[in-house]
Amino acid sequence: MSDCCGNQLPVAAQKSCCGGAPTPSCSSSSNDPFAWFDHMISNCYDYAIAQKSAGYPIVGIMCEFTPREIIMAAGAVPVCLCGGAHSTIAAAEESLPSNLCPLIKSTYGYAVQRSNPFLEMSDLLVAETTCDGKKKMFEMLAERTPMHILELPQKADEATSLARWREELVKLKEALETRFSVKITDDCLRVATVNMNRERDLRRRLAALMERPAPPLTGRRLLDLKSTISCIPEELDALEKVLTILEQTQPPCGIEKRPRVLLTGVPTAHGAEKVLDILESSGGLVVCQENCTGVKPILEDVCTCGDPLDAIAKKYLHLPCSVMTPNTGRFDSLHELVARFRPDCVVDLVWQACLTYDVESARIKRFCEEELHLPYLKIETDYSPSDAPRIAVRVEALYETIRGQ
Ligand code: SF4
Ligand code: SF4
Repeated sequence: MSDCCGNQLPVAAQKSCCGGAPTPSCSSSSNDPFAWFDHMISNCYDYAIAQKSAGYPIVGIMCEFTPREIIMAAGAVPVCLCGGAHSTIAAAEESLPSNLCPLIKSTYGYAVQRSNPFLEMSDLLVAETTCDGKKKMFEMLAERTPMHILELPQKADEATSLARWREELVKLKEALETRFSVKITDDCLRVATVNMNRERDLRRRLAALMERPAPPLTGRRLLDLKSTISCIPEELDALEKVLTILEQTQPPCGIEKRPRVLLTGVPTAHGAEKVLDILESSGGLVVCQENCTGVKPILEDVCTCGDPLDAIAKKYLHLPCSVMTPNTGRFDSLHELVARFRPDCVVDLVWQACLTYDVESARIKRFCEEELHLPYLKIETDYSPSDAPRIAVRVEALYETIRGQ
């Protein structure tokens, strides 16, 4: 065993596990920093292949509660495996109930079809006890790929929860050390934290551009400036350049007249942007996504002082997900985001059969209407394009109401 930050690195790689991995050449290194994101999936694929060939393990993750910092500190590459494809759902329904959230089915469908190269190359999956559907799907996924499950305390506000969550993170750290024959030191964790904080900071600054009365980009364009693998050096460089360009970019003509939308609810995994696209193609502008593919995971950094595992545990337990009870953080977050992004309405996206977000939507509606004084629209849908016209009609009616006001 060796210090993963240090000099005696084991196995295939004489590597620095602290984010200093050698990087393959990505097709982004053109002068156009947006190009990296136009080819994001293939760039991530090239990166993952190169890292794996160099002896760096690939670790698949499926939720924002998984601290990427710990995986990176083990010298591994965390890759998001959340499925956003409608095309994989039929394969999943051969063994999963059809009345299940499309995100779960799509993720599992990739496994059935063996069509997600990132899953196929994963040495380990790290998942957690969030919603019931995911938990039970993970048991099936674990039959084909080794998996470590984090037990997530679901009363985030309770005093003992943080200590229990930290214990789970210690178990994850030890599992990674054993599986990959590395030693995760505090220094490794701090380096990974600094890298992740840098990425979060860049993404926060990009998101903040949408606070402007006339932002220089659309919500869809902002969503596309996101990677399924964090902290790829080329990606961070591209993000820096994109930010510099966008800060000086003139807004598209008339963008300030479009109804401003705050999108809350479930994540919109890569490929599952249907509702976001409808919201913008119907004339609106999604100025903020308060969800796991938007600002939710980047609102808070990991503190770099003190014990690194304490700091990581604290940041991740704060994530205001509907699997928590009560999920008070979501109300606080909405309050703050509405003040910053000044939306004209709130749209609450709920994937079909997502019980936690579905049930929580009644309180979110009341909060939006009575406390934030904003029109609220709940959209419950799946990954199928078949209901897009019906959704568009409801969205247009919402925009008419806003214009009428
Ligand atoms: S919404 Fe909740 S369960 Fe889903 S990815 Fe985010 S934190 Fe995880
Ligand atoms: S959207 Fe809801 S049901 Fe689907 S994985 Fe996330 S929390 Fe679970």
